[in-house]
Amino acid sequence: MKAYLSKSKFLKGLQCHKSLWLHKHEPELVSPPEESQQAIFDTGTEVGLLARNLFPDGKEIIFKEGSFTKKIKQTRELIENGAETIYEATFTHNNVLAMVDILHKGIRGWELYEVKSSTGVTDIYISDLSVQYYVLSGCELPISKTSLIYINNQYVKYGELNIKELFCITELINKIEENQGFVEDQLSEMNEILMGKCPGIDIGNHCDTPYPCDFKDHCWSHVPEYSIFNIKRLNTSKKFELYYKGILALSDIPDDYDLSSGQRLQVVSELTNKVVINKKAIKEFLDGIYYPLYFLDFETFMPAVPIFDGTHPYQQVPFQYSLHVLESKSAELKNYEFLAKEGIDQREELIKRLTSKIPDKACILTYNMTFEKRILRELSEQFPSYKDKLMSIHENIVDLMAPFQKKDYYTKEMKGSYSLKFVLPALVPECSYEGMAISDGGVAMNTYATLHLIEDKKEVEQIRKDLLEYCKLDTFAMVKLLNKLEEVIK
Ligand code: SF4
Repeated sequence: MKAYLSKSKFLKGLQCHKSLWLHKHEPELVSPPEESQQAIFDTGTEVGLLARNLFPDGKEIIFKEGSFTKKIKQTRELIENGAETIYEATFTHNNVLAMVDILHKGIRGWELYEVKSSTGVTDIYISDLSVQYYVLSGCELPISKTSLIYINNQYVKYGELNIKELFCITELINKIEENQGFVEDQLSEMNEILMGKCPGIDIGNHCDTPYPCDFKDHCWSHVPEYSIFNIKRLNTSKKFELYYKGILALSDIPDDYDLSSGQRLQVVSELTNKVVINKKAIKEFLDGIYYPLYFLDFETFMPAVPIFDGTHPYQQVPFQYSLHVLESKSAELKNYEFLAKEGIDQREELIKRLTSKIPDKACILTYNMTFEKRILRELSEQFPSYKDKLMSIHENIVDLMAPFQKKDYYTKEMKGSYSLKFVLPALVPECSYEGMAISDGGVAMNTYATLHLIEDKKEVEQIRKDLLEYCKLDTFAMVKLLNKLEEVIK
């Protein structure tokens, strides 16, 4: 029997025919998923399960149990036996396989619901529903609704989670029916592709749109680790314009090619080792810094489903800070830190501790102040009794990123970036995130978000230590960078 073409393969085929072909014929070439991808999958699973409460008491076709043939048979039997709601209802038509998140029997016919953890309707979701409709209508199931369920980012949680307010449902059947000709054309094209040789498709914008492709390690293996694709803030279409002209190395970019001054500096610096140190501008920046000096960094997590009162989906909720303090130029460096207990709303405790440590007229240094300022504003709105203190911190923030963002200090090791993760190893190589159990903010976020689910206390303790160590390095790195700026203007 011919293998099924699943809905997910159809969507991959829409993105790139080569991806579809490789999935079928050379699946071993798939790149291992990144940790951030796994966190997105986990969120999708959590949201999918929660959305079932909109149509409770359904019968579930267990994904992990049995063959697709068995699942299709189970679905048929459930329908024949009068089931009103089925989760993961499985169908096939013309060898295309679809598993429906929620299938519900309405007054006028069957209602098909696809659940997404995003906050809006996109073209790829319409294609997703279109192929499901193609399969179910091909099975002669009378369909009255084809809808997308997704997160309502305007919902603010107070008390019990209100599932009906948490989700939006958008009915799309008219659009989906219009799309059926397109689905049929695509399916016949994909069937031909699968029977032929691997399509000779070059890399392009499609490798990341709408999703990063699973075969990037394979298809992009000819691209050097540092190439035109690493030029910061260079438009993707311009990168491919260069690539299609055979230009991959920075050294091959024509001198008259249209680049911004920062991009040109990245290229020239890479080729000639050029270092920029604008002493006058750095001195002006340093003149705006005064003691006592507080180096502040927050860590946040962004649950799709709000956990704490007063928060909305995907709100950045602070759970940790590190604060390095220098009372005077010659004072001993001190560190204060806070890490909320996992799964508990300790924002007020975080505010109390933070505001008790920072006096009103202190100078506060952060790296990328937009982030810290936003967190402080949101906290002051949600905890108005601390507003004055929080906004005083907000007003006194100076952004240590500024001299690097303005390229007043630049070396080729920064690779066009002014992010701390590039600037620190470039200027203070002995102070590195390498080898740390938690080495970036994204990992810290995902780690904390699932920490309350870990039962092993020792493991939790170790992860908490890792989180503290990571955040502490962020503020210690700022201390070191400030020292570096002071040194270079001497
Ligand atoms: S990496 Fe790009 S070219 Fe290769 S299969 Fe994926 S989308 Fe197609």
